[in-house]
Amino acid sequence: TFDVLVVGGGPAGAAAAVYAARKGIRTGVVADRFGGQVLDTMAIENFISVPHTEGPKLGAALEAHVRDYDVEIMNLQRAQKLEPVADGYKVTLESGASLTGRSIVLATGARWRKMGVPGEEQYLNKGVAFCPHCDGPLFKGKRVAVIGGGNSGVEAAIDLAGLVAHVTLIEFDKQLRADDVLQRKLRSLANVTILTSARTTEVIGDGSKVIGLHYENRADGQQQSLAVDGIFVQIGLLPNTEWLKDTLDISPRGEIIVSASGETSLPGVFAAGDCTTTPYKQIIIAAGEGAEAALSAFDHLIRTSAP
Ligand code: FAD
Repeated sequence: TFDVLVVGGGPAGAAAAVYAARKGIRTGVVADRFGGQVLDTMAIENFISVPHTEGPKLGAALEAHVRDYDVEIMNLQRAQKLEPVADGYKVTLESGASLTGRSIVLATGARWRKMGVPGEEQYLNKGVAFCPHCDGPLFKGKRVAVIGGGNSGVEAAIDLAGLVAHVTLIEFDKQLRADDVLQRKLRSLANVTILTSARTTEVIGDGSKVIGLHYENRADGQQQSLAVDGIFVQIGLLPNTEWLKDTLDISPRGEIIVSASGETSLPGVFAAGDCTTTPYKQIIIAAGEGAEAALSAFDHLIRTSAP
């Protein structure tokens, strides 16, 4: 039995593991893919004190830092069930094996919903982006499209409009779904065009980077094209929490509901990073929350263990 069993090996899980191990308690990390989403990104320029790094490099550094400590890393293992047992919780893996922890830190992250159109995969990180806070500055002075007219799409379009030359917001439905206050702000911006009833059908590139996209005008069925250098896909962030449904309290968006110190609805189970209700999904925030969840887990252990 681990004192702290961390599920997830992204920035949140890695930070939790380091913080737990530094308390001298038995710490384990089980991860489907150690490194997490950072492995899928190229330039990272907002991890404070590191002006520039690359995803795979940061992923390797996270793992190396955890390996500096006496932490058992179980990589390429997917958790599929969490249940209470006498002295804590049992996590069952897809392999059939199970692990127990007196406390648990859930840090399973999230994934961006993709459009599923030709060209999208090929041009990921080559013009196709998901995070305006991360990649917005790369498109300074250029033309971009934002796909999705919900709150995140409209927020992204407003944010990008201050950095780039022009933003085209593309919404599938007849109207935007974002809050009125955001829509009003968006419509007040001179360098934004809004297209509704528009279905993106293809990402177009020149072999090395995005040069535009095709969309169908759903009103008349006509194919149209748009020249852009960047496409920000904002059609949903899906937390990796399907396996926890019916186990603990989850928001309507599938996020684990956490308190300011990372507590979940189950005593002794904490959560951190992109899988939680924390609003901004960023590496530095996930890492900070991982640290916080581990400290909360330690606090829980010293209050509940026999003297
Ligand atoms: P994740 O990084 O998602 O890690 C989750 C971990 O849990 C992984 O190890 C995964 O394999 C594991 N896991 C999931 N389900 C299970 C399961 N059932 N069992 C076991 N393990 C499981 N943020 C920035 O701050 N700056 C950037 O420049 C930036 N660029 C980005 C570019 C791209 C293309 C993407 C996709 C994201 C980017 N982000 C950036 C966001 C950032 O990567 C995330 O906010 C951050 O990685 C979240 O960390 P996390 O530990 O919460 O989750």
